[in-house]
Amino acid sequence: MFFKKKRSYLVVVGARPNFIKIAPLLRRAREFPHLSFTLLHTGQHFDENMSKVFFDELQIPKPDIQFDMKEELHTEKLGRMFTNLKNVIKKNAFDAVIVVGDVNSTLAGAVATGTRGVKLIHIEAGLRSHDRRMPEEINRAVTDHVSSKLFITEPSAQENLLKEGIPKDRIFYVGNLMIESIELFRCKFDQSDILTTLGLSKKGYVVATIHRQENTDDPEVLAHMLSTLSEVSAVLPVVIPLHPGTRNKIQSYGLEEQLKTLTVVEPLGYIDFMKLVIDSKGVMTDSGGIQEETSHLGIPCATLRDNTERPITLTLGSNKLFPLHTLNSQEVISHLQRTDFQPGVIPKWDSEVSKRILELL
Ligand code: UDP
Repeated sequence: MFFKKKRSYLVVVGARPNFIKIAPLLRRAREFPHLSFTLLHTGQHFDENMSKVFFDELQIPKPDIQFDMKEELHTEKLGRMFTNLKNVIKKNAFDAVIVVGDVNSTLAGAVATGTRGVKLIHIEAGLRSHDRRMPEEINRAVTDHVSSKLFITEPSAQENLLKEGIPKDRIFYVGNLMIESIELFRCKFDQSDILTTLGLSKKGYVVATIHRQENTDDPEVLAHMLSTLSEVSAVLPVVIPLHPGTRNKIQSYGLEEQLKTLTVVEPLGYIDFMKLVIDSKGVMTDSGGIQEETSHLGIPCATLRDNTERPITLTLGSNKLFPLHTLNSQEVISHLQRTDFQPGVIPKWDSEVSKRILELL
């Protein structure tokens, strides 16, 4: 009798946005019994509210392999992730390794896979800010160039990859898993009592998130970001779920005073965060994923960056760039007060993304 061998994949995740994107894929994988998935958590994000809460809320299976990076210095983490990943790939006969997004775990997974001669699949490939100062941009480019299948979320990604010489037959426009997660868990958002907990009224506040290195590494830039948030808070209350990295920077630069007009909370779980965004007047952020989520939901988003690797979000109007050198709180406020945006319709940003990916695997 002939038994078809299961195709086996190692899925590498390590940071908050990875967890949200992988949840619908691993859930739908049950419908594809001829594919087997080993989930590896690099330990890049390890705080309860940056990792465990997403596994619980998004019902992601417990990782089969878990690295412990808690004690590592930031600079050493990447090297250790790479060595550990290489060992895992060496010991197992995976048909391919899957990495997601643009975080350090993505890069470590990509290079470890490349050096072992195993096939690499990149989910959310081809995005480019064309700004090489961003560590994420380096992670994206390196990962794409060692991948044999590149799953993309928007048309700009195909243009970028073709320009960089990646053959067209490796590129697949599958859509955006971040959006599939919204649709999958939307029914739970109303179960959150985050507005009551924080004393907020529907459409009466702004949500802010800041974590990108270009906004947090330089004390003057970070101070400018925080003073803009304060100016906005004079008109609309601002809630900021503070990323642990940004909190550390604020403390080390002695900028705590600048938080005093803001409602500062710990990073939120997915359900609370999405409820907070959906009921907000608008969002101020430097996050990649939040630009996509707000575009899909039709919520005004002021992106506090010079550029975006997700240009499709700018075409709908709800997302607008506010570059640092011209950042003006009055302009931000007028954008956030707009009420004319509709939920964005972007091709393949729907509930079938994981199905498309699994069929291609
Ligand atoms: N998010 C969350 N809680 C928070 C802040 C963010 O659940 O307190 C979610 C949100 O859905 C967002 C995702 O985390 O899209 C990605 O986060 P992040 O901004 O850290 O990463 P990026 O998208 O910039 O890579």
